[in-house]
Amino acid sequence: MVTRTILSLTGPGIVLAFSCAFAMFWLVERRLHYLPVLALACLLFSLGSLSQILYWPDDVGLNTLVSGALYTIAVLLSVQGMLLRAGKPFAWWLCIAVVAVMTGLLWYYFYVDRNLVARVYIQNFGYGLIMLLTAVRLGGPAAIRGVDRVLFWVLLLFSLHFFPRTILTSSAGKAPGAEVFANTMFWQAMLFSIGILAAMLALTLLFAAFADVLGDVRHERDYDALTGVLNRRGFGDRINTQLADLGAPVSLVLCDIDHFKSINDLYGHDMGDAVLEDVGMVLSQNARRHDIIGRLGGEEFAILMPETDDQAARQFAERLRLAVESHQYRLPTFATRVTASFGVATHGPSCNWDALFKSADARLYIAKRGGRNRVIDTDGEIVDAPARSLQNKAV
Ligand code: GH3
Ligand code: MG
Ligand code: MG
Repeated sequence: MVTRTILSLTGPGIVLAFSCAFAMFWLVERRLHYLPVLALACLLFSLGSLSQILYWPDDVGLNTLVSGALYTIAVLLSVQGMLLRAGKPFAWWLCIAVVAVMTGLLWYYFYVDRNLVARVYIQNFGYGLIMLLTAVRLGGPAAIRGVDRVLFWVLLLFSLHFFPRTILTSSAGKAPGAEVFANTMFWQAMLFSIGILAAMLALTLLFAAFADVLGDVRHERDYDALTGVLNRRGFGDRINTQLADLGAPVSLVLCDIDHFKSINDLYGHDMGDAVLEDVGMVLSQNARRHDIIGRLGGEEFAILMPETDDQAARQFAERLRLAVESHQYRLPTFATRVTASFGVATHGPSCNWDALFKSADARLYIAKRGGRNRVIDTDGEIVDAPARSLQNKAV
């Protein structure tokens, strides 16, 4: 009996440890606002288990209601935590309504029409259904990140296990009374298995939280906070890792805002930042999904376009030029127009980055010398731009 109790305490003990882990994680990473919700879910789940195992409160009816309510709130908080993590709002009213209905039904089937099988059905089918719906809402196996796919499958396994569990429990629990049944080896095994599954889910969620932090750090490292496009480092990394695999022909469009210094001088650095932000947005909105956009430094951007020939790249750059010129910037109405110059270059198979960049950069220089606000995609007659490369150009 003592060994059995200690064994069955393992599950809630592990889940309680996860509760502490989520809480401590939240103390160091306050941005992950779903962590305290998960910490509370684990805590309540452990308390629900403890109330069943240690048989507190020491009254069958009260024990059923207390442990039932604790489990229900824990399940709801855990799915709300997962949904919060996926950017969905916390559904307070739905949670309160589900807790009220489920506790009400448990009360009815204990005090009015005592029926253990009905109570088992309500709790298990209820939790199974709540988790199943959440798994579907989370986006399923098509999630981009591996950790989200693992989370989906663990949640699905957890939700589906409630259904055979219900059938087993209701057939096993028919003969003896609730008090006797609570002490059977079968019921102890059920408690143990749910503890293990809960611990599995909590472990996956803990990994997911680590993955979120790592993702944020990587994003901050590779993306420009002002414009939202890749920064110089992130763009360089993509070139190093992906250029060889991009479908030929590959085109590069370099874009440099005209007389940007005077925008800063006339309207201040903040206005300059606002213009940079808008130009980054205009470029992103016009680019295709597979194009790689980066801010190479200052007011210069690059767009690397796979499977794009010289004609298509020129048309694209011309579209960008018009979009930059016609955009409504947050500048005083009397302000000078914001325009940009473009240099375009295209390479066939086995694209060489240095050659592609030099070519586009030289053409950008021609566009500047030719009067700005234009697209140049041929070398023309004068190519005397100083040689630059992505590695040594000052940001
Ligand atoms: P051009 O038409 O020849 O390109 O002239 P320009 O004035 O655009 O080019 P120049 O290189 O002379 O000036 C670029 C300016 O961009 C100088 C620098 O202060 C400003 N700048 C660089 N980074 C930022 C930034 O993050 N925010 C703001 N507001 N200004 C920046
Ligand atoms: Mg400029
Ligand atoms: Mg410049």
